[in-house]
Amino acid sequence: MATKKIKPSHGMGTIVNHVGEGGHDKHAHLMPIYQTSTFGFDTVQEAGEVFAGRKKGYAYTRTHNPNMDHLANKIAYMEGIDLIKLNPDVDPSEIVLGKVTSSGMGATSAAVLGRIGAGDKAIVQRGLYGNSFKWWYQLAPRLGIEVVWFSDVSPESLEQTIEQHSDAKLIFLETPSNPNIEVVDLQQLVTAAHKHGIWVMVDNTFATPYHQRPLTFGCDVVIHSTSKYISGHGQVIGGAIVSTHLDYMAPGGSGVGLTYKMLGVAPSPQDTWLINVGLKTFEVRMQRHAENALAVATWLQAQPEVEEVFYPGLPDNPYHELAKKQMINGFGGMVSFKVAGGVENSMAFTNAVTIPTLAVSLGNVDSLIQHPASMTHSATPKEEREKAGITDNIVRLSVGIENIEDLIEDLDNALKLTS
Ligand code: PLP
Repeated sequence: MATKKIKPSHGMGTIVNHVGEGGHDKHAHLMPIYQTSTFGFDTVQEAGEVFAGRKKGYAYTRTHNPNMDHLANKIAYMEGIDLIKLNPDVDPSEIVLGKVTSSGMGATSAAVLGRIGAGDKAIVQRGLYGNSFKWWYQLAPRLGIEVVWFSDVSPESLEQTIEQHSDAKLIFLETPSNPNIEVVDLQQLVTAAHKHGIWVMVDNTFATPYHQRPLTFGCDVVIHSTSKYISGHGQVIGGAIVSTHLDYMAPGGSGVGLTYKMLGVAPSPQDTWLINVGLKTFEVRMQRHAENALAVATWLQAQPEVEEVFYPGLPDNPYHELAKKQMINGFGGMVSFKVAGGVENSMAFTNAVTIPTLAVSLGNVDSLIQHPASMTHSATPKEEREKAGITDNIVRLSVGIENIEDLIEDLDNALKLTS
């Protein structure tokens, strides 16, 4: 059975099911799990060729493995699809490269340290996922990296920060951000940053390449927590790095090729395989997440017990016009909101729902609800949360693919119990 041929014109549903599929051992329909730490050679000469990078082959799973390459190529294809379409005669691996990691935090570590180190400066969004914030707040200074924070995501403010810190080497952000669902104008940011050779690194976990492809706007690196929508079922922890800078990604280079191996961020073959299976339903899952999230956000906004809803799909959301320009196929599955009456009511509501599970993480087929100040963003000190607008009465809902009537009925019951 030959390896499946993918055309640049193919859509996301075809990509996630067919990139790198076919051609497996013994005509296996799914790639077998290469659950092995090491790979044998016939001769020392052959081993030498592989180690020197002159011959394709596998040597040791901390560096790479067929399951990892398979998933990494697929995610790179997904993020790079618009660029691949523009260059249909060029091999996709000459346009965009990917690596998969053992977690989203592993992706952050390998991607950031593949670009910067001691003595370098980075411009970083304050309203990040709590442990991403902590990476920059606590770990980066220990590594000798200077951090310039920004809370205001408006193009004017970002441009001003860039001009003031034009010696920075990297900008790190999420869009939409976690948990306030703020949207950053990537096109404008890239134009301002690239004037000074500053790279833009985007955590695209919330949007996924179904809704937004930062590389299309010229961003330099995309990272993911594949623990979320990419795997889709809450079955595994994983991450990914994708970039158009081939030298930065090259196995023998001094970028991710170095940090990946030295930090030891490779995932297990089994976890990688599970993520690949989860990915096969990606497009239909994302369609339903976005449809349900829009319905939930619209409904929440009409409830007197709800003070504010953060969802860029709502026409009166301050990021709606930008999101319409930058995102495709809708606005994603993440909705945050404030229950009227303060933090006690927000917590009481979160305790009262019965369909969403009270748990961190997001992007599962089943809904998850959580209270960022107590959970995902407890790693961010309260005064820093406040600077980023992450107030204690915000509730974050990862809207699943359940039947929408059931979800809304459950949210309605919880609101009634709360007020
Ligand atoms: N980025 C975002 C936006 C997240 O929400 C998370 C985790 O919640 C991460 C990165 C970290 O990913 P992981 O938990 O896979 O290390």
